[in-house]
Amino acid sequence: MDADYWDNLFASFRYAVQQEGGVLPSVSIIAERENDPYRVLIATIISLRTKDEVTLSASKRLFALAKDPQSMLALSVSQIEDAIYPAGFYKTKAKTIQAISLQLLERFDGKVPDTQQELLSLPGVGIKTANLTLNLGFQIEAICVDCHVHQIANRLGWVATKTPEQTEEALASLMPRRFWIPLNELLVRYGQLICTPVSPFCSKCPEEKTCPKIGVTRSR
Ligand code: SF4
Repeated sequence: MDADYWDNLFASFRYAVQQEGGVLPSVSIIAERENDPYRVLIATIISLRTKDEVTLSASKRLFALAKDPQSMLALSVSQIEDAIYPAGFYKTKAKTIQAISLQLLERFDGKVPDTQQELLSLPGVGIKTANLTLNLGFQIEAICVDCHVHQIANRLGWVATKTPEQTEEALASLMPRRFWIPLNELLVRYGQLICTPVSPFCSKCPEEKTCPKIGVTRSR
């Protein structure tokens, strides 16, 4: 797979997403609007297991109350819960948001660190959250693999992996670096609209003829 392959694939997937009326995922919209690594990190925490429209409105309500670690700590956990409800696991996330804010102030001078290792040392921050924060908060190249990226990369036969961590490693050696940041954004939308987890819409996919559809038992 050379750079032309990836250029063509990204262009055709973007076009297919647009045809379905797709827009940027919620954290990307927040990153563009807020342009701040702290708010990217917090929005990513809110977005876990939560629909995009809920993430967008919950983040907007929370950032209207607090935009930085200091003002976040001035809020009570129940104020944060109220602001981000009905995000999934909102009670746990409210505590995590406070714990992250406290650690940022105590250990990082109130700033979000820009390395994967330091991000992973924060409470509730896993590899997906760390990499998305690097991507969208700092424009640092990192491959962010969520369930959509993992599934689509395996269906297309780019990788043959069991876990998102293995997929991240395999894609890093397969894909030119300039595709690393846009990959997540594009495949999340693609996975929501076309290559859906159950019964993908292969008839709408520009890769239909060449995709080996590994693991797909039913398609539309
Ligand atoms: S052909 Fe089907 S399985 Fe393959 S990438 Fe397209 S939608 Fe997904």
